[in-house]
Amino acid sequence: MTTLVIGGAGYIGSHVVRLLLKRGEHVIVVDDLSTGFRERTEGAELVELDVTSPDAVDKLAFQLRACGADSVIHFAAHKQVGESVQKPEMYWHDNIGGLANVLAACASAEVRDVVFSSSAAVYGMPDVDLVTEDLQPQPINPYGATKYVGEWMLADAERAHGMRTVALRYFNVAGAGWPDLADTLVMNLVPIILDAVEAGRDPIVFGDDYDTPDGTCIRDYVHVLDLADAHIAALDYLRGEDRPHRVFNVGTGTGSSVLEVIEAVGRALGTELTPTMGERRPGDPARLICSTERIEQTLGWSSSKDLDDIVRSAVEARQGR
Ligand code: UDP
Repeated sequence: MTTLVIGGAGYIGSHVVRLLLKRGEHVIVVDDLSTGFRERTEGAELVELDVTSPDAVDKLAFQLRACGADSVIHFAAHKQVGESVQKPEMYWHDNIGGLANVLAACASAEVRDVVFSSSAAVYGMPDVDLVTEDLQPQPINPYGATKYVGEWMLADAERAHGMRTVALRYFNVAGAGWPDLADTLVMNLVPIILDAVEAGRDPIVFGDDYDTPDGTCIRDYVHVLDLADAHIAALDYLRGEDRPHRVFNVGTGTGSSVLEVIEAVGRALGTELTPTMGERRPGDPARLICSTERIEQTLGWSSSKDLDDIVRSAVEARQGR
């Protein structure tokens, strides 16, 4: 099978590319290398292309036809919540416009199966213990909104062109599957803590007065390799017969607080870290934990790694191990 992976030189995309190559699949990576790295795509063919450029539909359709692609996985997008609040136009243009071009190219080249990176950010501030896919999305920032709009676009493309699509709503992704695929340029809690430690600074906790056991926010951290594996499961699902759902949460079903993550990083580094308590970050829900029921039952996927595995792999990748 041949899969075109857009954004395959980035953090999550490169893990999926490697798993596909290990399965013996043919992989073409399309990436503009703005936040990706050429060397991470070794073993796949790399096409340098910005999917938001005016001629992207034609160029993508040409690539899809030339390689005889059966499926597309689309990662290429901006993903910083704060930046999306400052520059919503950039998020509309690149995240929504990029996906529009990708879907138009798939329609033109008659590619049927599409997997799309969505996000738990579509849910906004849900006031529930476990977030299920049935919950009405209510994004509270432009980033989450672009992901929700993207899911609607997939549904429209299905109706218009007979495509089959899956949107994976990622919870908090961290860790590394291989030392050369470390979390470089990823602006999330685990790499931010590691950056702080490397720079000799204390990690900062964004608020310790939330209604949680230790007062800090709780998130569902999933290993990037487990997440990559969920994409493979989604591809297999699209290639199969039965297809009752289009949207799946990807997480572990277990929550960890910011303080627990900092402690885990300390354990992995063999030192005790002293966090500094800071202000709340606007728009942070107190807890966001994934219900894994749908993905377990429908895709047969479940996570295999816990917080210590995740953090250890992130530390080891940075140390080149
Ligand atoms: N966080 C923090 N300090 C930091 C970065 C993040 O306390 O330097 C917290 C943040 O408020 C949230 C959690 O860590 O509760 C995860 O944040 P991240 O930005 O990694 O992912 P998000 O949950 O926003 O998608």
